[in-house]
Amino acid sequence: MFQVIFAEFKHETNTFSTQITDLSSYQRRRFATGHEMIKLLRGTRTESAGVLDTMLQQPDVDLIPVVSADAMPAGRVSAAFHQDICGRLIAAIRETGSIDGVLLCLHGAMVTETSEDGEGDLLMQVRQAVGPDAMIVATLDLHANITEKMKRYANALIPFDYYPHTDMYERGQEAAQMMLRALRGEIKPTMVCASVPIALPPLSTEEPAMKKFVDLAHDRETMPGVLSVGIAHGFVCADIQELGMTVVAVTDQNPELADKISTEFAAALWRDRHVLKPANIGLDEAMEAAAVPGEGPLVLADLSDNPGGGSTCDGTHILKAMIAAQIKKAAVAHIFDPESVQACEKAGVGQTVPLRLGGKLRPDILGTPVDCNAYVKMICDGRYVNRGPMSGGIQVDLQKSAVVMIDDIAVIISSNVTQPYDLEIFYAHGIDPLSKQVLLLKSTIHFRAAFGPIARKILNVSVPGLTIQDPLTVSYTRCRRPIYPLD
Ligand SMILES: [Zn+2]
Repeated sequence: MFQVIFAEFKHETNTFSTQITDLSSYQRRRFATGHEMIKLLRGTRTESAGVLDTMLQQPDVDLIPVVSADAMPAGRVSAAFHQDICGRLIAAIRETGSIDGVLLCLHGAMVTETSEDGEGDLLMQVRQAVGPDAMIVATLDLHANITEKMKRYANALIPFDYYPHTDMYERGQEAAQMMLRALRGEIKPTMVCASVPIALPPLSTEEPAMKKFVDLAHDRETMPGVLSVGIAHGFVCADIQELGMTVVAVTDQNPELADKISTEFAAALWRDRHVLKPANIGLDEAMEAAAVPGEGPLVLADLSDNPGGGSTCDGTHILKAMIAAQIKKAAVAHIFDPESVQACEKAGVGQTVPLRLGGKLRPDILGTPVDCNAYVKMICDGRYVNRGPMSGGIQVDLQKSAVVMIDDIAVIISSNVTQPYDLEIFYAHGIDPLSKQVLLLKSTIHFRAAFGPIARKILNVSVPGLTIQDPLTVSYTRCRRPIYPLD
């Protein structure tokens, strides 16, 4: 029997955020150990489910699930929590004795209170515990900042191919399949990474400029001897030395081929750097468009206050503009503001309550509170299950929420943050998104997977926020130089 350790430990750390990510942050999203992980994750569209579905049916594998921890992007991960997770892994490894493989679902952009390289440190400790011969394969988010340490201590790193990340499940399967074939002696994965000095703002892989690289990677994966080709875009909201893009090529014992593919890709990305940019608009243009009626909802993406990138989700710039422009038949997902949820609950459904809505965490950047009289339409537990193409099956818990009407704008107010990329956030709050003229979403790209098919049009609205859209507007102090577009 092959003994294989399995764990998930993820965080996308926005170093410009001051909110520390600790055990309670993980408990608000996902924290499970041992066999409860299987119950929680199987049947979902996640990389962990891809690993579990593949590994649990193998007669020659003893899979040891250790821990699953995932928190919303925010500021640095507490050093104590990071060490706790590493400790759990090391303890499981020691307890098992001889380990053949370690499968990890990581993000790749974790910064802790004491280290810029959360994943590199974890991989190093795991490698030291399992020895040089065990296979270590990890999936990564597409927004990983891949570091020298991560490359050194893992045999293979497999980033998601798509943004929106609709292929998490498949990447989990891919990692598990690679592990199985390696354990059975059919292949020897050999990885070469090429770093690309680009700090890329969030760009969907559906944009033709980026899609061509995904297609090319898939084409290379059909070459004999090539096991996996992926591109980690990097995470621009992390001011760390090793910020940037990386191309990962994994071959079957052919370092020359892996080097050739990754170097070629890196050069092609560098050549295209000037076109790897999203088309964003300002507030005035967005309000003009939102005032024009049409068939189906116009989606305004609040790119800069995306809690999925570590912003606070209580920014008010666009909501204020919508109120001022008297936008009709609109809905907003969502404003994080537990105090306002409490005020609504105290007033009761059917009452009008004065609110100082949102704008509490970083008013200096994300806008001051909205002073308004709001009609309380609904109070609920804030729980729903995603059913769209991203993380389908995963339960979301907004820990009590309210729906208020400000004129003709329905605003979901929450006591916990999530990135609103699933239609269910509206349905769970009694709002039919299809019946609205305008939807404001605190999301940069992920919402496109579910909302793209129902949207009349999508507009990327760039206002000041913590999810950086233009690296030139930020002062980086740690990031390696030179890097495009900063230099
Ligand atoms: Zn991502």
